[in-house]
Amino acid sequence: MITGTILRISGPVIIARGMKGSKMYDVVKVGEEALRGEIIRLEGEDAVIQVYEDTTGLMTGEPVENTEKPLSVELGPGLLASIYDGVQRPLPVLLKLCGDFIARGISAPGLNREKKWEFVPSVKIGDTVVTGDILGTVKEFHFEHRILVPHHVSGTVTDIRSGEFTVEDTICTLNSTTPLSMMQVWPVRIPRPHMKKLDPVLPLITGQRVFDCIFPVTKGGTAMIPGGFGTGKTVSEQTLAKWSDTQIVVYIGCGERGNEMTDVLEEFPELVDPRTNLPLIERTILIANTSNMPVAAREASIYTGITIAEYFRDMGYDVALMADSTSRWGEALREVSGRLEEMPGEEGYPAYLATRLSAFYERAGRVVCMGAGERNGSITVVGAVSPPGGDFSEPITQNTLRVVGTFWALDTNLAYRRHFPSVNWIKSYSLYLDSIGDWYTTNVAPDWRELREKTMYLLQKEVELQEIVQLVGPDALPESEKVILDVTRMIREDFLQQSAYSDLDSFCPIEKQYLMLKVIMTYYTSVIERMNRGITLKQVQGLSLKADIGRMKEIQEINLIQDLIGEIDRQLMSLEVER
Ligand code: ADP
Ligand code: MG
Repeated sequence: MITGTILRISGPVIIARGMKGSKMYDVVKVGEEALRGEIIRLEGEDAVIQVYEDTTGLMTGEPVENTEKPLSVELGPGLLASIYDGVQRPLPVLLKLCGDFIARGISAPGLNREKKWEFVPSVKIGDTVVTGDILGTVKEFHFEHRILVPHHVSGTVTDIRSGEFTVEDTICTLNSTTPLSMMQVWPVRIPRPHMKKLDPVLPLITGQRVFDCIFPVTKGGTAMIPGGFGTGKTVSEQTLAKWSDTQIVVYIGCGERGNEMTDVLEEFPELVDPRTNLPLIERTILIANTSNMPVAAREASIYTGITIAEYFRDMGYDVALMADSTSRWGEALREVSGRLEEMPGEEGYPAYLATRLSAFYERAGRVVCMGAGERNGSITVVGAVSPPGGDFSEPITQNTLRVVGTFWALDTNLAYRRHFPSVNWIKSYSLYLDSIGDWYTTNVAPDWRELREKTMYLLQKEVELQEIVQLVGPDALPESEKVILDVTRMIREDFLQQSAYSDLDSFCPIEKQYLMLKVIMTYYTSVIERMNRGITLKQVQGLSLKADIGRMKEIQEINLIQDLIGEIDRQLMSLEVER
């Protein structure tokens, strides 16, 4: 056993002497209280360690013991609806053990050891299995939890059981020598392998119009939500966690206020998935490493989260991972790097910031899973970024921008005007429009892309027109351009704006999204057409159409929105040219 002593303590970073034989990223127990930490640098006999727990009161000379294992998570039945801290300690268990304040050095396993699960095998004696093959299933709530052959394991099934087992019980034996349980342990810094990556051709449907219709992200894609304080990053992440069409959601609260996590904890058990009618909490894993918890554990929380996501992906499921906020992780890297007196890069962040960020987003993707049967799974990663002062030129925003496919730029001015989601339609973009075109054509409508392009064209045109209006007043615009301002206001208020708190509108089915856009664009083309025949804008504005369009959000019956398209033509045709 490698044991050393504490030589120096600097906030969350300590140096231990006498650690010869240690490896990078070994987990260590620091001090009398056995605080958990991880070796992040080795210099001769000295190990530099980042500690995942509060180090106040720690003294030089206290012992440090190397567990000689990397930081790992436990994977198996019992993950769903769990609430963990950054190193996968179940928070409710910790609270039971020590009341309101989590005492230091407390450990509790990630998976419950006592609980029994009904295991239903899907292999039989004599079958040959390899890594990733399904040995059997467990019902966890309504979810089919697939028990897979672990990595680097293969052989012939010589024993297979069915019935009630804990995660540690043997459920299968290979080659009479290798017992397997339902639990796997995986080092978090190492991505779990897959067969190959697939093209991102399926959209992640989020029920949010500005995301799905205007700046979509794919299943297996990556998106970032940068925005200043109060622009709606957290609300967006939570909205995505609620309504995204994936089987599993991993939500990481990283370095943000604790009460926001409390909101999630209180709200989720009440919410029902609109697609399955099942409680949303049953498909969710929460990782809470809030601002009052030690900084070093922020990094652990990110890796713990993505590893859990990969585990469910490997079963062949679609997973969405939300991280709020990746900036707090970056800031933790900066703090630790500063304590290590490393050569600082831009704005004091370590030079490896870009590599760390891209390696994290690289773990997203739609893949062919290991094992037989051509299972596909995906991880979509959506990272919030909190640039100080909302200035997007700072390093975390810039380095994330380079690696993600969708950029949802939240805008302080829009938030101030209470236009939510405050996604700036000029600055935001999605690189996935081409790859998901086929899906939309087949599953929504062939003209989705065309409608989207028209919408974007009008919104860009609006910026130009508003400049003119500011210079010379609205009267200087010809009627055909006043119509554009009319329509873009509709696009903004009746389509893009979507309150996360509205019972009727917080989730909008994709078919309805499309029809809403179709109605507004039909209105635009029909009005232009009628105006070309002599009808005035004033006449059009006298119609009830605008009010009808403004009510679309509240309408649940899709047919009624479809009917509006006919109504637009009927009302416009009823207008007669004034002489
Ligand atoms: P951030 O995390 O960027 O600091 P929040 O997500 O906490 O900001 O949002 C701040 C406030 O903005 C929320 O409390 C809410 O009032 C409002 N808000 C943000 N997004 C929406 C939305 N989609 N619908 C309605 N209100 C929103
Ligand atoms: Mg926030």
